[in-house]
Amino acid sequence: MMSIVAPSPAYSPLVDNFGREITYLRVSVTDRCDFRCVYCMAEDMTFLPKRDLLTLEELDRLCSAFIARGVRKLRLTGGEPLVRRDLMTLIRSLSRHLESGALEELTLTTNGTQLANLAGQLADAGVRRINVSVDTLDPILFRKVTRRGNLDQVLEGIAAAQAAGIRVKINTVALKGTNEDELRSMIEWAHDRDMDLTLIETMPLGEIDGDRTDQYLPLSLVRSRLESAYTLVDLPDRTGGPARYVSIAETGGKLGFITPLTHNFCESCNRVRVTCTGTLFMCLGQEDAVDLRMPLRSSESDEALHAAIENAIAHKPKGHDFIIDREHRRPALSRHMSMTGG
Ligand code: SAM
Ligand code: SF4
Repeated sequence: MMSIVAPSPAYSPLVDNFGREITYLRVSVTDRCDFRCVYCMAEDMTFLPKRDLLTLEELDRLCSAFIARGVRKLRLTGGEPLVRRDLMTLIRSLSRHLESGALEELTLTTNGTQLANLAGQLADAGVRRINVSVDTLDPILFRKVTRRGNLDQVLEGIAAAQAAGIRVKINTVALKGTNEDELRSMIEWAHDRDMDLTLIETMPLGEIDGDRTDQYLPLSLVRSRLESAYTLVDLPDRTGGPARYVSIAETGGKLGFITPLTHNFCESCNRVRVTCTGTLFMCLGQEDAVDLRMPLRSSESDEALHAAIENAIAHKPKGHDFIIDREHRRPALSRHMSMTGG
């Protein structure tokens, strides 16, 4: 049985030292994945022993504690969140916060491989929107980029999610010399199917097998190329996150750009991230972290957990400083995106 933590007026909202209120939590529920995307993981990954992972009950307590402190949007990610066994139990349990109105949105970022089976259950649990990562619509290139994925399975998953009434946004990492010439047709594919698409610049997180400078494609360049084909109209920022959105007059759809390297979005950052081992990262681009697993495991009461969260938020850094260039071939941070979930 999962414990129920009702939003309590006893807990104050989480506001950091720069006046930013934390309303968005991303939780990586596993470091494992059925893909090995070339920009995300090495071919040969060593995953964490199961005992290091937070249990589903611990994840529920942790998310509920943040919700009690004013988190309104919760995104589950990974690794691949939907390969975690019994994840639906956690999602169904967390959906009580949607019913109570404490939580506005419960969502996921997924590679889509399990969606054909799980879309209906996700919709029943109150999931209204998801992000699905697709970097190419060429099945052979898809296999190459993911090192093991089957594009048809993902496309079936997307169709199942849409059929279940879930809005799908496509995430596409822009990769030099890989999907660079395909981006326009991907945008048109997504917009034709009533899906927004967000382009992501590669971030220097974790050791991978290749050289990141070979993958890095600045979105400023992508944007200027798209501008020669389309009319892009800037949309006001409402997310507090690193994405900037435009609408494309010709397709009527929305296009996002996540440019952590060329755009400083830190002043409005309203989010923190927790890894599957319960480490709270206050900034995607910094090493500052606080362990929440120990306070979770040390007592059945959530007092120590709340104290650790408060302490962490008081130390949220002002911003980050990612760099990818020829002099900085090492990852800026040693952890992979699959640990903090993007
Ligand atoms: N497995 C799920 C998926 O792929 O959607 C969720 C986790 S994945 C780490 C979340 C997002 O991060 C995906 O859209 C992925 O493309 C992106 N990502 C992973 N590594 C990245 C990197 N080094 N730079 C930029 N984006 C990255
Ligand atoms: Fe897995 Fe997502 Fe990383 Fe690809 S990007 S290896 S799907 S966690």
